Amino acid sequence: MRGTTQEHLVPVGEEPNAIMIDQQHTTVSSTIVDIPRSGIREIMDVAQEVPGAILLSTGEPNFPTPPHVVDAAAAAARAGKTTYVANSGIPELREALAEKIRTRNGYGVTPRSIVVTNGGVEALFASFTALLDPGDGILLPDPGWPNFSMMARILRARIQPYPLAAANGFLPAVEDLERLCDEGTKVLLINSPSNPLGAVIDRERMRALAAFAERRGLWIISDECYDELDFEGGFVSAAAVADPERTVSIYTFSKTYAMTGWRVGYAAAPVRAAEQIAKLQEPIVSSVNTPAQYAALAALTGPQEVVATMRDAYRERRDEVCARLARAGIAASRPGGAFYVWVDVRASGMTSRQFTLDLLRTRAVALAPGSAFGAHGEGYARISLATEPTALYEGVDRLIAALRA
Ligand code: PLP
Repeated sequence: MRGTTQEHLVPVGEEPNAIMIDQQHTTVSSTIVDIPRSGIREIMDVAQEVPGAILLSTGEPNFPTPPHVVDAAAAAARAGKTTYVANSGIPELREALAEKIRTRNGYGVTPRSIVVTNGGVEALFASFTALLDPGDGILLPDPGWPNFSMMARILRARIQPYPLAAANGFLPAVEDLERLCDEGTKVLLINSPSNPLGAVIDRERMRALAAFAERRGLWIISDECYDELDFEGGFVSAAAVADPERTVSIYTFSKTYAMTGWRVGYAAAPVRAAEQIAKLQEPIVSSVNTPAQYAALAALTGPQEVVATMRDAYRERRDEVCARLARAGIAASRPGGAFYVWVDVRASGMTSRQFTLDLLRTRAVALAPGSAFGAHGEGYARISLATEPTALYEGVDRLIAALRA
């Protein structure tokens, strides 16, 4: 009953002399309670009450997983590959991933640098955990994927948001990073192609970011989960230009192969960090679903046309959506990668939350409010292109009508 008073004690049961339970010591974690609810989730909840709503709010490919990938998982399961495996993943997959990184991402790694994870999200969480002590500073993009700041908060790291502004092509500016970085900063997180902006960091900018990180002795965590959804060929991996001994790169099968529910991602890190990330697999997930790892192997080593087909479809949708918005005189990003268009909704005179809720209730279109991605997202909304084109274009036309009204 450490340090409690009578007010914290509540009786259990009706009987006199009931056992007293110390409520203070049965509360849930205040760190977790204090993490705000996702603004995207709020929209999704309201959307459930709007029958037939066009959902342009989530980042989920609208393609099925390729059949040969599904078959590989079924074959693995039938062959009894259903046991726990190594924390880092099955050796065949780690070898194939090292080869993928060499040929498609342009830098050399050995399988010892690869850890297969439960989606890119767990690769990120394990990397954050491996690199950050409580109180360490982490430079996070704003607007940026909300999960980054949730993870930092879970770990009690110090979030140092850096702005991504239209005036800078929505790319990180080294001057901003220099201004924000201090003695306690440990990690620079970059995300290219970006969710929610679709911005792709070009080689020159990447070199400048790498030089900044080196000058200030920072780790780079480079979220490259959309690496293969690069529309103009401008994508460059951080580790291809930055110090590989201080760069952790994050990837996923979710977007490239339409495998969101399979939950397979991976981190590529210098061996000293990869070993710590692998160690963390044990208490977090032990190992990734074994048949899913064989599915991922088939995705990687099988025909790659599926990747090009999906990328071409997203590019075509981007062109059409951007053309419609431009014709209507509405400012929006022209994404170089990923599958999101970032639209300026300030003409509505509402906050982005109010605007997206209003759009959903009055015109049955769900967009993600910009403010869900950070303070600098206010005044914007995110359209997901990962939606069947007829519904996508109808949704965009309704958005245009709402902004004109
Ligand atoms: N990173 C970014 C920027 C994302 O948008 C996502 C998913 O939306 C992920 C990582 C992780 O995806 P997954 O855990 O499905 O691999």
